Amino acid sequence: MEIVTSITDFQNFLNQKRTSGEKIGFIPTMGALHDGHTSLIDASVKQQKTTAVSIFVNPLQFSPDEDFETYPNNLEEDVDICRKHAVDILFFPTQEEIFPEGLPEPEEIGGIGKIFEGKSRPFHFQGVATVVSRLFEIVGETCAYFGEKDFQQVVVVNDLVKRHRFPVKVIQCPTIRDDDGLALSSRNVYLSKDQRSDASVLYRALLEGANLISNGEKDSENITKFISGLVKDESEGDLDYVGIVDFETFTPLDCLNTSGKQVQILIACQFGNARLIDNIGVVIP
Ligand code: AMP
Repeated sequence: MEIVTSITDFQNFLNQKRTSGEKIGFIPTMGALHDGHTSLIDASVKQQKTTAVSIFVNPLQFSPDEDFETYPNNLEEDVDICRKHAVDILFFPTQEEIFPEGLPEPEEIGGIGKIFEGKSRPFHFQGVATVVSRLFEIVGETCAYFGEKDFQQVVVVNDLVKRHRFPVKVIQCPTIRDDDGLALSSRNVYLSKDQRSDASVLYRALLEGANLISNGEKDSENITKFISGLVKDESEGDLDYVGIVDFETFTPLDCLNTSGKQVQILIACQFGNARLIDNIGVVIP
C-alpha cells in the first residue's frame, strides 16, 4: 500500500491506474477507523480495481465548541487496518496541503443542510461540503463510498455532486452496528461504561418506531413522541431531535400516507461528551 501526503503524488498514482483502465473507489474519512469504515473499504475493494482512502480531520465541519482538537486519532492502527483491507493508496494530507491559501469560504448548501443535523450544528454541512468538494476535485472520476449512518450527509453529498457535476458516483453503504445495535462511530470511545450501555437505546427506539410504521401508524408526531419517550425513560441521554423524512427528497413528513414509500427515521442524542446520531429506513405499508 502506498501512503502519500501530497496531492501531486496522490493524483499521479490515480492517473497511472486510470491509464491502465482501472476504476477508482474512494473512501473519504477522518480516521480512527473502525468496522463501519472498513465496510466501505471492503465494498470498494470488491467492486473497483483500485481503492483509495483519505484521512483528513476537517476543521471546517466542527464548530468552536466541538471536539476538533480532541478528535480520536490513531494513524498507526489506521495504516494497519488499511493494509489488512487491501487498500491501494492512503492519502493523509496536512491542512496546508488541502487548503494552501488558508481555510476557504464555506461552500453554499441548500435547505437540506439546514435542518436536523444542520440546525443543531449550523456550519457542519457547509464544512463537509467544502472539504468533500476539494477532495472530489483532487480525486477526479471515481465511485465514492459513504455510510448510511450519516444519512443526511449522503443527501448533502449527492446534492453537491449534482450541482457541481462532479464525475463521481456516490455509493451508499449500510450502517454497521455493535452486537447491541449501537451504530459504530469514532466518537463511541468518549462513552463511559454506563453511557455506552445507555446508548444502545437509540437503535432499540428506532426499531420500535419502525415497527409502529409497519403496523400502520400514520401520524409522525405519534411515532416521534413514542421514540423520544422511550429514550428518556431508558437512558440519561439528552435527546436533540427525532424526525421522519422522505428517503429520496429528505422532506420532513407529518403524515405517512403514501403506501410503498420509504421513509427514514432520524435521531440525535448526547451521552456525556458524545453526540451520537443514527437512523433507520422503513417502507410505509
Ligand atoms: P468519518 O470518519 O466519521 O467522517 O466517516 C467516514 C465515512 O464512514 C462516512 O461515510 C461515514 O458515514 C462512514 N461510517 C461511519 N460510521 C459508520 C458505520 N457505523 N457504518 C457504516 N458507515 C459508517
